[in-house]
Amino acid sequence: MDVLPQESLETIRRAKSIIFLTGAGISNESGIPTFRGEGGLWKNFRAEDLATPGAFQKNPELVWEWYDWRRNICKNAKPNPGHLTIANWQKKSNSVSLITQNVDGLHPRAGSESIIELHGNIFRVRCTNCSAKFHLEQVGLDHPGLKFCKHCESLLRPDIVWFGEEYDQTLLTKSWELCKQSQIVFVIGTSANVSVPAQLALTAIRNGALGIEINPAETNLTTSMKHHFGGKSGEVLPKIWNEVFPNEPLD
Ligand code: NAD
Ligand code: ZN
Repeated sequence: MDVLPQESLETIRRAKSIIFLTGAGISNESGIPTFRGEGGLWKNFRAEDLATPGAFQKNPELVWEWYDWRRNICKNAKPNPGHLTIANWQKKSNSVSLITQNVDGLHPRAGSESIIELHGNIFRVRCTNCSAKFHLEQVGLDHPGLKFCKHCESLLRPDIVWFGEEYDQTLLTKSWELCKQSQIVFVIGTSANVSVPAQLALTAIRNGALGIEINPAETNLTTSMKHHFGGKSGEVLPKIWNEVFPNEPLD
């Protein structure tokens, strides 16, 4: 699909509640590898074998090395027009919510202020013993290798929801509520292999939201969507903005 039909443009303009649900694909154009697909491997390990509590227990050095490598990529990356379009949309209207699976911090750096980071943030750590949380740079822990708690000297871990772990209940409850009430849901750059984000998108659709997916590939969610854009989010999102708000250039 190239352009949205007039009817959908009107529905978007009138909507009282819009949700952007984003995954690793939106940051791909910023040079951050996705987990699945091209460039998804690190030293022949699959992400699914490293981002787990079991992997950390078995080999914390390896897991920290991987996170240090990923965090460095995130630090040097810049938000792309996909992140910036969403940030503009949120500044324009307080009816726009952003729920992301990404941990890279590019949405806040693009200027999005209110964000649900479902899977945590790669720039935060927490203690495996006392659960204290720290921002890596704040506490001077931004060095490679194992990191230890300032309070109790136990091992720190990334403040990230790993495969097989529970979500933060407060964030999850808020996300369900938002999705149930939403009138538009944009699903961007997610393979929908992780079940909670996929269920959130489906909840929005089942409750009547108009679904728009932006992903070069088709996913399990594609057939539930009203529209699928098979392009890159950094190109498609600014185009959608220009169609919805023809007289308002993006910042
Ligand atoms: P995924 O890696 O499973 O899938 C990425 C999806 O993005 C694919 O469907 C791919 O076709 C699509 N894609 C690739 N380039 C795109 C582009 N330019 N525009 C739009 N779509 C594009 O990602 P996921 O579904 O988010 O699940 C992976 C898990 O890994 C998540 O839990 C996430 O927390 C984590 N993760 C995060 C980051 C990050 O923070 N940037 C990066 C990798 C993985
Ligand atoms: Zn501690």
